[in-house]
Amino acid sequence: MVTSESRRGQLKAVYEQARGCTRCPQLVAARQTVVFGAGNADADLMFVGEAPGANEDKQGLPFVGQAGKLLEQLLGEIGLERGDVFIANVLKCRPPGNRDPLPGEIANCQDYLYRQLELIQPKVVCTLGNFSTKLLRADPGTGITRLHGRDEIRTIGPRAVRLFPLYHPAAALYTRSLLDVLRADFARIPELLALEPPPQPEPEAVEDVVPEPEELVEEVAEDRPPAGEAQPDEPPDEQLGLF
Ligand code: URA
Repeated sequence: MVTSESRRGQLKAVYEQARGCTRCPQLVAARQTVVFGAGNADADLMFVGEAPGANEDKQGLPFVGQAGKLLEQLLGEIGLERGDVFIANVLKCRPPGNRDPLPGEIANCQDYLYRQLELIQPKVVCTLGNFSTKLLRADPGTGITRLHGRDEIRTIGPRAVRLFPLYHPAAALYTRSLLDVLRADFARIPELLALEPPPQPEPEAVEDVVPEPEELVEEVAEDRPPAGEAQPDEPPDEQLGLF
């Protein structure tokens, strides 16, 4: 049985890999930090947004701007705070000018998210907006307008989770009706958390979409700049300290 301490240690190792990642040259050139994600590494509830914005890039933490304040407020309304959950994004680096993530960037970055899901072992995963919903449902054709507020059990890599798509809080900042819908969907989260965790797949039925840790280490290690060249940013204390 893998202990929580060991999973936390492995999560830190994945963070170290991510913060030295140079797979997307355009993002590497523009980023100030790699926003790996933050929160409780043992959380039952995980949120997955799209990509860091300017504030997140500066502080190295996810959802610290206006959308993050709304997320925190909605969490408070259901009796939770940031430290109770883990918050991550599809992309760990800010797309310049806050443009949409490109398919190649999502492909480059997705292993980090899959490893986070595998190691944190949340019961419920709330996808925020289209990008994380489409990625984690492996269905690029069905968007958030159809899917929000409908929980479903999904097997992602080796684990089954209850996936619960939600509108992105940034969208709800500008459209009152979306905020009402997001708030109503949020109100169902405690009920989902109270359900029995989804049955886990038999090991042989596991989809082989998540690379083994060694595979990831090697791939990323090859991408690291040689010693003496641009080294990864220093990790902000808060990001590491939170998990
Ligand atoms: N929007 C996101 O999707 N993620 C963040 O971290 C901030 C804003």
